[in-house]
Amino acid sequence: MNSGQRTLTILGSTGSIGKQALEVVSSLGEMYKIGYLTVNKNIAELEKQAMQYSPIGVVVKEEKYYKEFVASTSFKGEILSGEEGVAAAAEFDSNDMLLSALVGFSGVIPTLKAVRKGINISLANKETLVAAGSIITEAAKESGSEILAVDSEHSAVLQSLVGENKSEIEKIILTASGGPFLNTSPELFEGLTVKEALNHPNWSMGSKITIDSATMMNKGFEVIEAHWLFDLEIEKIDVVIHPQSIIHSLVQFIDGSVKAQLGLPDMRIPISYALTYPRRLSYNFPRLDLAEIGNLTFAKPDENKFRCLPLAYQAIKTGGTAPAVINAANEVAVEAFLNEKIRFTDIADIISFVLERSNIIFNPTIDELIEVDYETRLITENYIGSLFK
Ligand code: MG
Repeated sequence: MNSGQRTLTILGSTGSIGKQALEVVSSLGEMYKIGYLTVNKNIAELEKQAMQYSPIGVVVKEEKYYKEFVASTSFKGEILSGEEGVAAAAEFDSNDMLLSALVGFSGVIPTLKAVRKGINISLANKETLVAAGSIITEAAKESGSEILAVDSEHSAVLQSLVGENKSEIEKIILTASGGPFLNTSPELFEGLTVKEALNHPNWSMGSKITIDSATMMNKGFEVIEAHWLFDLEIEKIDVVIHPQSIIHSLVQFIDGSVKAQLGLPDMRIPISYALTYPRRLSYNFPRLDLAEIGNLTFAKPDENKFRCLPLAYQAIKTGGTAPAVINAANEVAVEAFLNEKIRFTDIADIISFVLERSNIIFNPTIDELIEVDYETRLITENYIGSLFK
């Protein structure tokens, strides 16, 4: 760890991960100062954060809220807007670390810009690796940028791999809570409501990822994310249901040994690990009490109920732009479900329909990826429109 103070920029500072990251930064004392904080439109929260953390600059992505912020703020630093503003914050020269906590494909370009500059990344925006895994990991190899996942599962794998040789990994096993519908019978799936889907049993998160957890697309994305982060064949990545979310993931080695990382389901732990990696610092977060928890249980995921999970495996096995296609179709379908335009079960049907009909480009350039993302959104929106005429 460098002795000097490091600069951290947070993309998406008013979301669930962004807020928890700032809390962690406070508990780290002088270790980090804040470069830029970026938000889409939550300017009330940004005002508070700007006053408390004195960043060098802030970005309000949406023009309307940018103007409102400029007119009302007491913040004296730089204020930017738009996608260009987010990109400028991401590749700010003094950044030692970029925490990307944006939602969906919007995280790809700013993260890639930072990676190309050799800035280390704490990646909470898993869609970046799902959609653009090959481009991002290749750019990181070239620039020397280190990508650390701010995802409890991948943090658990990383922690279990300390001191190990990659060639001795037999497989990694990602745990999945199973979300709110783990024990819901399949006949009830069609009628599941947005409110029920947003009611995650263990984790408090943003709405997009919470729906992804309910469909288990989140776990499918995490399988793809693990494939890129740990450079492992997809056949070596398994998923097991573990409803208590205490074991955050496991690594099985060629001698049959299995290592795991455990902890309470508290995102501040993987956030801290990414920000202090490879060291650990002392925190006063609540501690795991196994006797109090009593039972840890496990099961195989039911792929007939949670069809997004096999769809994600199918996409990464297909390769090329297939994962970007399921990512874009999923973003549109989740949005439509949140707006009560489609049923819960339609999400997997729609993604499957769109994936079957997409022309896969192998080894896409970043421009081709952006195009595929855009076109897939249009195709998905049109398809959703045609379903309910
Ligand atoms: Mg996770």
